[in-house]
Amino acid sequence: MNGLIELEREVISTGRCTGCGACTTFCPRMKKTRALPNAQTIRGLFRGERTRVNCDECETCYNVCPASPSLDRSLLKEETIGDTIPLFLAGQITDKRLHELSHDGGIATAITEYLLSKGERVAVTVEDRRYPLKTLHTTLRAPGEATSAAGTRYGTTPNTLSLREDPACFIGLGCHITAIRRAESKGLIKPPLLIGLFCMRNINYQNLLKLLGKKGVKREDVREIRIEENHVKIKRRGDPDSDLAVSLEEVRDLFRDECRFCPDFTAELADISIGSTGTPDGWSTIIIRTRRGRELIERLVESGAIRTTDTVNRDAIERLAKLKIQESEKPAAPTSPGREPLSP
Ligand SMILES: Cc1cc2nc3c(=O)[nH]c(=O)nc-3n(C[C@H](O)[C@H](O)[C@H](O)COP(=O)(O)OP(=O)(O)OC[C@H]3O[C@@H](n4cnc5c(N)ncnc54)[C@H](O)[C@@H]3O)c2cc1C
Ligand code: SF4
Ligand code: SF4
Ligand code: SF4
Repeated sequence: MNGLIELEREVISTGRCTGCGACTTFCPRMKKTRALPNAQTIRGLFRGERTRVNCDECETCYNVCPASPSLDRSLLKEETIGDTIPLFLAGQITDKRLHELSHDGGIATAITEYLLSKGERVAVTVEDRRYPLKTLHTTLRAPGEATSAAGTRYGTTPNTLSLREDPACFIGLGCHITAIRRAESKGLIKPPLLIGLFCMRNINYQNLLKLLGKKGVKREDVREIRIEENHVKIKRRGDPDSDLAVSLEEVRDLFRDECRFCPDFTAELADISIGSTGTPDGWSTIIIRTRRGRELIERLVESGAIRTTDTVNRDAIERLAKLKIQESEKPAAPTSPGREPLSP
């Protein structure tokens, strides 16, 4: 039996939970709540103390969890179509204004805006206006809204919850995409088009605030954060001379602990993966992995929304992908004190 108790014992108590939200999204008892899965919610859920729902031990939460140590990744192979897929491309959005707002080549923004213009919904991550630099998941619906999601924000959102709004396309990180594919393999969902972003590591919001405090930077003054050339680059609004570069060595505890266990640099189970590595500044690397991913990119090229070339440094991508797998295989740290597993 692998259910809620095992999820708590093997994932949450061991610091592996990525906060992807999938256990909550797919739990038949939790469908009507937005409560986030953490040790408290899970305890409340199990005992019926907080949420007044009782676990009926259906095992769904454990089965969809991307961080469960028993995940057999070989069950989740990408679709292979002859020798054309996976296909590596460099891509760039053609709209100059949107390109400027985007992280790199603006391919995620181009996909979002294209689908919105066709009347489709797109699940994305934006900045929470109430708390600068904090991430928030949302579903966009109207043409013109893609600008709100353009650019990289560090932080994890339980954006699998957006699946309840039936989007045609979902943009997220490897951990989100794996959860959705696991749900698909259990017949729980017919996934929307899945766009996965490359991800080596993610930032812990509270530790980011501490770093900004230490450097005397107000969070509302930060325009952009980038991780480049072994540095965290903090770019401020207005004055480019006041940008900061902090070496990764100096900020080891900035990163989310659970990312150490994650082997998935390129969001391998997406229909299309997008990242910076492998292409020059101002371009995005696109890995097309499935037929429907290829069809979408072809439609974008035909419509003139993006331009592509086939000049990609695959070695650089493969090197980081291997490194991520190696790092994830290092022995796990002991269970954090004070986060005792539930007893059955
Ligand atoms: C946490 C994180 C770590 C990353 N690490 C790497 C890396 O190590 N190497 C690498 O090559 N690329 C990395 N990327 C990907 C890179 O930063 C760009 O997102 C990617 O290249 C797409 O660029 P773009 O110009 O097409 O995106 P844009 O057109 O600017 O669109 C950005 C898209 O990212 C989504 N997004 C923004 N923040 C988040 C978030 N926190 N969670 C989920 N979705 C989000 C938005 O919804 C939007 O769809 C990372 C991205 C994130 C979010
Ligand atoms: S009802 Fe099923 S999915 Fe929900 S918490 Fe219990 S075992 Fe997990
Ligand atoms: S499904 Fe996601 S949110 Fe739930 S325990 Fe696993 S990693 Fe955490
Ligand atoms: S490193 Fe892995 S677990 Fe961490 S945010 Fe990125 S995809 Fe998710």
